[in-house]
Formats: sequence, C-alpha cells, structure tokens
Amino acid sequence: MALAYDDTNIFARILRGEIPCDTVAQNDHALAFRDINPQAPVHVLVIPKGKYVSFDDFAAHASDAEIAGFTRLCAEVCRAEGVGLEDGQGFRAITNAGPHGVQEVPHYHLHIMGGRMMGPMVS
Ligand code: IMP
Repeated sequence: MALAYDDTNIFARILRGEIPCDTVAQNDHALAFRDINPQAPVHVLVIPKGKYVSFDDFAAHASDAEIAGFTRLCAEVCRAEGVGLEDGQGFRAITNAGPHGVQEVPHYHLHIMGGRMMGPMVS
C-alpha cells in the first residue's frame, strides 16, 4: 500500500508553481532545482513529479517510466553541473527517509552534491 502523501509539503507546492524554485532541469517525470541551503558548491535536489513520500515508496510504487525519467534526470544534472566522473569530479547522492533518516520534506528527493571533496559519511 502506498504511504499517505501530504499535499501541503513544500516540494508539492513547488511542483504546483505556488512557490518559486531555482530550476536546473526537468523532464516529464522529474524536476531538479537548487537546494535553498546548499551544503556544497553544487547542491541540487531531484524530485519525482508524482506523489511519493520517500525512496522506498517511490521504488515500490512508481512506474518504470517514472523511475527511468527520474534516474536519467539525475545523470543529466551531474553532467550539466560538471560533477560527473567524465569531468574527473564525482559527487555524493543521498536521500533521507523517515524519522531515523531525518527527512524534513515528505516528498521523495535525492540530494546531488559536488564541487568539493566530501567528508566521511558520519552522523
Ligand atoms: P531532507 O528532507 O532532510 O532530505 O532535506 C530537505 C532539503 O530541502 C534541505 O536541504 C533544505 O535546505 C531543502 N529545502 C527546503 N525548502 C526548500 C525550498 O523551498 N527550495 C529549495 N530547497 C529547499
């Protein structure tokens, strides 16, 4: 069963055009925009356009087309932001899920961060 989705979350409002965002790229299934509080020179959030609460919800319930569209947009962002391996850079892609993951916004999103050497994955 799909998780209950809160339509009032801030990313739902961004998708409805109710509040602005700094768009990096989009396709039929996903939107990429800059994090409002960047933790690295490149810090882009990629979100599905469908209503999914978290990674596990998305992976279990999204269509193959949605998953492909989301994943391809992530790769496009890495290339466009110059942090892909082809650029000799590299990036960190993380998602927070639920209370233990300290997820703030209950709409699935992947953080793509790069442009500096990342620290160890702690806390
Ligand atoms: P998480 O849910 O803890 O994975 O993180 C939510 C992320 O959304 C944080 O990094 C916030 O800085 C970011 N954020 C919250 N509101 C906005 C917004 O309006 N535009 C862009 N990023 C946002």
